[in-house]
Amino acid sequence: MGAIDWARVAKLSIVLFFSGECGMRRATMSTCPTAKPWIMGIHAYTPGKSRAADGRELIKLSANENPLGSSEAALQARSAVSQMAPYPDPGAHELRRAIGDLHGIDPERIVCGTGSDELLNLAAQAFAGPGDEVLFSRYSFAVYDIAARRCGATPVEAADADFASDADALLNAVTPQTRVVFLANPNNPTGTYMPRHDVQRLHAGLPKDVLLVVDQAYAEYLAEGEDDGGMELALRHDNVLVTRTFSKIYGLAGERIGWATGAPELIDILDRIRGPFNVTGSGQAAAIAAVADQDFVARSRELNASGLAALTSQIEALGNHGLRAIPSKANFLLVLFEGDVTAPAALDALAEAGYAVRHLPGQGLPQALRITIGQPGDMKKVVAALRSLCGESA
Ligand SMILES: *Cc1c(COP(=O)(O)O)cnc(C)c1O
Repeated sequence: MGAIDWARVAKLSIVLFFSGECGMRRATMSTCPTAKPWIMGIHAYTPGKSRAADGRELIKLSANENPLGSSEAALQARSAVSQMAPYPDPGAHELRRAIGDLHGIDPERIVCGTGSDELLNLAAQAFAGPGDEVLFSRYSFAVYDIAARRCGATPVEAADADFASDADALLNAVTPQTRVVFLANPNNPTGTYMPRHDVQRLHAGLPKDVLLVVDQAYAEYLAEGEDDGGMELALRHDNVLVTRTFSKIYGLAGERIGWATGAPELIDILDRIRGPFNVTGSGQAAAIAAVADQDFVARSRELNASGLAALTSQIEALGNHGLRAIPSKANFLLVLFEGDVTAPAALDALAEAGYAVRHLPGQGLPQALRITIGQPGDMKKVVAALRSLCGESA
């Protein structure tokens, strides 16, 4: 659910009003291309900002990017790609082998995508259409709503449990029309985590013909050994797909690379409808090198763990001003503003201090800001700005 872009709505209304042929008499005689009604129900994805209202460049803590950038090895591998004329390997063989080796997965059970975004959309498209339902939790990833609507299916939101996805609420929302269930774990934008036994229970309660997509975009940020069991479910069952991305801890968001694993039948279905050359040559080269550089991943995880713990306790210290940190296991923290200090005021104060964070009123969170964990020096300034806004000494 993106924010409603009122300027666009107004423009569209004017166009519909004045263009009689296209708008009003569309039912009887069409003189211009008409988008499917479910496409017109989509609000385009609202990306994280990197500029203040006055155009000033801000430090971006609004898109959950890696503050360490990307692995030096990945940067080098990318620049070593000297030709752009040849098509990339359509099967991303070497990359799938590298991913398979790292995670102990047969490469035949892996498909790569133009970001995991492509794979999330394909999962919806392959299994749902008009008349079907695509289910996900309230306050989960904005792409799920778009993916459902893109294929004409009806997006259905289950109730959250204090901003976290709730297995029982999801199961209660399943109907005979449910075809796909999306679970982001850890979840974006809340950072909350559904423990392994609840993920298992969710899967066990779903009809066998419903696809469960466990979106593990932030899984690498979990403490070592912590695991929601999604991969195991994907290995054992025919109706579980796990998606991963190189956009977050690997710091390759600009190259657009994701992957999914599941039963060979599921992978075969996604292979039929994905873009034939959906991962660029430079992207494949960078990702192969990034997989090999697990030191960079470990450093990124450690930096995030300390930054997240620090920010969480510093927000908790402002609890008397109505600030509340939703417990996060990802690389960001959702901060609620439930007192006199409002989220829009904090958004402005942080922009004034040079930082862009994410305000998501379009996702039903007008009272919250999602703050990506950045470099320690930046996090100090973020906290100082929030403290000062609350009238506390920095
Ligand atoms: C960032 C994110 C993704 C990754 O998207 P890409 O297309 O791989 O960049 C997927 N799911 C969630 C929940 C995310 O927050």
